[in-house]
Amino acid sequence: MDNNNKNKDPNHNRQGWGIILVTTLLVTFIVMGLYSMMQGSGPEEISYDKFLSLIDEGEVQEVSLNSDRIYITLTDEARQKELHETGRISNPGNVWSQLQDQMHSGSSTGDEGERNPDYYTGYVNDYTLVDKLEKAGVEFGSEPADTMGQTLLELFLTVILPIGLMALMLVWLMRKMTKGGGVMGIGKSNAKMYMEKETGVTFQDVAGEDEAKESLQEVVDFLHNPGKYSGIGAKLPKGALLVGPPGTGKTLLAKAVAGEAKVPFFSLSGSAFVEMYVGVGASRVRDLFKQAQQQAPCIVFIDEIDAIGKTRDSSLGGNDEREQTLNQLLAEMDGFDTNKGLLILAATNRPEILDPALLRPGRFDRRIIVDKPDLKGRVEILKVHAKDVRMDESVDLEAIALATSGAVGSDLANMINEAAINAVKHGRQVVSQKDLFEAVEVVLVGKEKKDRIMSKEERQIVSYHEVGHALVTALQKNTEPVQKITIVPRTMGALGYVMQTPEEEKFLNTKKELEAMIVVALGGRAAEELVFDTVTTGAANDIEQATKIARAMITQYGMSERFGLMGLESIQNRYLDGRAVLNCGDATAGEIDEEVMKMLKAAYEEAKKLLAENREALDKIAAFLIEKETITGKEFMKIFREVKGIPEPDETEENNVGEREGRIVMKHGE
Ligand code: ADP
Repeated sequence: MDNNNKNKDPNHNRQGWGIILVTTLLVTFIVMGLYSMMQGSGPEEISYDKFLSLIDEGEVQEVSLNSDRIYITLTDEARQKELHETGRISNPGNVWSQLQDQMHSGSSTGDEGERNPDYYTGYVNDYTLVDKLEKAGVEFGSEPADTMGQTLLELFLTVILPIGLMALMLVWLMRKMTKGGGVMGIGKSNAKMYMEKETGVTFQDVAGEDEAKESLQEVVDFLHNPGKYSGIGAKLPKGALLVGPPGTGKTLLAKAVAGEAKVPFFSLSGSAFVEMYVGVGASRVRDLFKQAQQQAPCIVFIDEIDAIGKTRDSSLGGNDEREQTLNQLLAEMDGFDTNKGLLILAATNRPEILDPALLRPGRFDRRIIVDKPDLKGRVEILKVHAKDVRMDESVDLEAIALATSGAVGSDLANMINEAAINAVKHGRQVVSQKDLFEAVEVVLVGKEKKDRIMSKEERQIVSYHEVGHALVTALQKNTEPVQKITIVPRTMGALGYVMQTPEEEKFLNTKKELEAMIVVALGGRAAEELVFDTVTTGAANDIEQATKIARAMITQYGMSERFGLMGLESIQNRYLDGRAVLNCGDATAGEIDEEVMKMLKAAYEEAKKLLAENREALDKIAAFLIEKETITGKEFMKIFREVKGIPEPDETEENNVGEREGRIVMKHGE
């Protein structure tokens, strides 16, 4: 860990290969260059024929015979002549001759005047040659050592030198890989791991989540003073698993533990362990634990541990790499000594897929639930984040919390920030309630899409559709009153939406309420059919929602007469999309579908009936909405009461909801 931070990135891989490539090319060029110099600047080859004619003309001074070549040295005059004719000086001072000279110094006669040959020719089985040479008075002899020298030199340059260089380079690379931290990305933990010496986060920064904080407080205490626990014989926890939906503050909590205990915080993601090569993940785990133990006391936080901790699966042959990584993790968790003050925290939003071995005592034996915040939790989270933002006195965080049921910590933090940005955009110094309310909508349904131009007909359909929902809501006793209706399209796909105001947070819904919800969801489509005698694609979202409620009523809540209390579905991943799987046979599944259809059909008929009976209100409110684009609950109720002949209530009365923030329940995509 250079400064305890192994931020090795894939570039190192590329660098490694780059170095190999460049060195190989360099070696090749050097060898080729030397070889061609050696070849090109030695004596020139001539034909045997020319050799004989040179002898005849008395131009040869000396000849040396080798096993396969005849080297020819010209007389001084002949050489001058040759130079004159061809412009070529055969070999004064070239590399080859220098090398040869060096090799022969010592073994040579030391004759100052000895010159290097100018030409060579191939050996021909010519038994008259000696005669000819004697006749012409040419000195001759044989020099076997020369060939030997040359062959050795050639061998050195072409074979030994390149192999040597390559071997050296390989040794260097291997060293780097095993020691320096993965030039090739193999070996050392080059997973992205972040280290913070002081996180600066405390439990005060984490709002709500009181149970989780309480549970972690013990852990902090243990990190502060491990002796207290081990003295009595208590086994200290090695790891804790933070379980909950995304954005609920799991990372924040882990940081707070480190901050409170004043120990360094290491964090990395589970997916960073798993690589293409089998064994890499395992070696990274080994490495991580080694490094963490050196740094102890400290907190190691593994986010998304499900990436490596998935149940080992034998039926499909499994995934060797992941299994090896998991096995290594299990072994390391068993191996380390808690007294040093090392604590492993891990986060997941899919606890049900984790391998049971990981959750055994002595490993991640504590499971801490970090669930979506309730109303009180949301108020607290908003307060924490509002601390650093200037707000005016109109701001009522409770109202915002009420309007954001289902939002998690990161959504709320995001909303406060959006509100601040909105205030700045409008040149204001402080954030108002209106900014916050707008931010809620931006986070939930996106920004207003001002450039989207809808045709007149489309606007009409969307208007009737939204008013359909709102009117059904108002007409049904058991649903919440509407707060706002708009047909301004939003960037996240909504062409219009209705916002309802929840009076209080509900944890339970009655059968009647659920049925009313289905009728409301189908109210938009019912209005379209009633008014235009046609239907559009705008109701897809409603239909999905209505079907989901109806199905859950039958399969999970035991609210159908046909199946009674039989549990027919179970939730798979509670903390993500909450998808359910059927636990029944095909025949029953078919019956469930029939039952759902029946329920939806009845609800749709009910919606149509309600709207038909109130056609005047529907038309009037829709016309008003087309004109204004956005209307408040107050305006809606005014027209509604006028049409229905209901007297205006007191300002203080319960269903005056105009000033309160709403919750977006119906949004309609394209
Ligand atoms: P997770 O790890 O559960 O996905 P994070 O811890 O990364 O979620 O949360 C993201 C951000 O949301 C945090 O940095 C923080 O600003 C905000 N946040 C989430 N939960 C809370 C909370 N309980 N209190 C305060 N802020 C929170």
